[in-house]
Amino acid sequence: MLALKNIRKSFNGTDVLKGISLKVNEGDVVTLIGPSGTGKTTLLRCVNFLEKPDEGEVQFSNFQLNYSHAKKKEILRLRRKSAMVFQQYHLFKNKTAIENVMEAQIVVQKKTKKEAYENSLELLNKVGLVEKKDYYPSQLSGGQQQRISIARALAIKPEILLFDEPTSALDPELVGEVLNVIDQIARTGATILLVTHEMSFAQSISTKVVFMDHGEIVEEGPPSQIFNHSNRLRTKEFLKHFT
Ligand code: ATP
Repeated sequence: MLALKNIRKSFNGTDVLKGISLKVNEGDVVTLIGPSGTGKTTLLRCVNFLEKPDEGEVQFSNFQLNYSHAKKKEILRLRRKSAMVFQQYHLFKNKTAIENVMEAQIVVQKKTKKEAYENSLELLNKVGLVEKKDYYPSQLSGGQQQRISIARALAIKPEILLFDEPTSALDPELVGEVLNVIDQIARTGATILLVTHEMSFAQSISTKVVFMDHGEIVEEGPPSQIFNHSNRLRTKEFLKHFT
């Protein structure tokens, strides 16, 4: 479904991604883990061109795009295949919860207001927040805001959901409710690429875990391999911090 090939990116002369190739199959939940500053978020942002790689290719089902000569139209087409959930939610502050979920359906997908409203009610129900539909972001907790932003991401029916450390801005007591929603979505067969520092969650939710260090993939495999049977020193050193 998604194949990244030889993605390279540098900032101010520093190589942040050193030629990353990665596959995500339909229904996979692929988790990127690794030390801070290692390029996980940058890689995720390269998938939808929020960050423009210096080199590389992205293949989405039958659609291929070479980063070095991508046209604007192709980039837009690529962007519509994915939806991203950010660390800091990025909700429209002047719109209610349901208006936030409706927005892209009306503007991008050209649904009628009625259609978008009904679909959004269903999605808010899925994330357990129908009763908060008319609240503004400032009236909601961080965990609730993140659940709204997940409903908003689901609303455009993306081929792949991208999660960039979705719980790292939350108070510890709010992390669980967001992880539960992501877990529920994963169980429906959604295709997910996720960056997280929540190791036990990565272990339980992933079909594949990718350990990155210094802009490279050191090791990838099923959670049991990475967490319990890794023979790579760098992986083991990193995971020691979480036991
Ligand atoms: P963390 O786990 O702390 O979020 P990460 O593995 O996701 O880290 P990135 O956020 O991808 O790492 O950052 C990788 C490196 O690239 C860091 O050194 C960061 O400072 C640098 N970097 C990221 N974005 C930019 C940018 N827009 N301009 C300059 N440097 C950047």
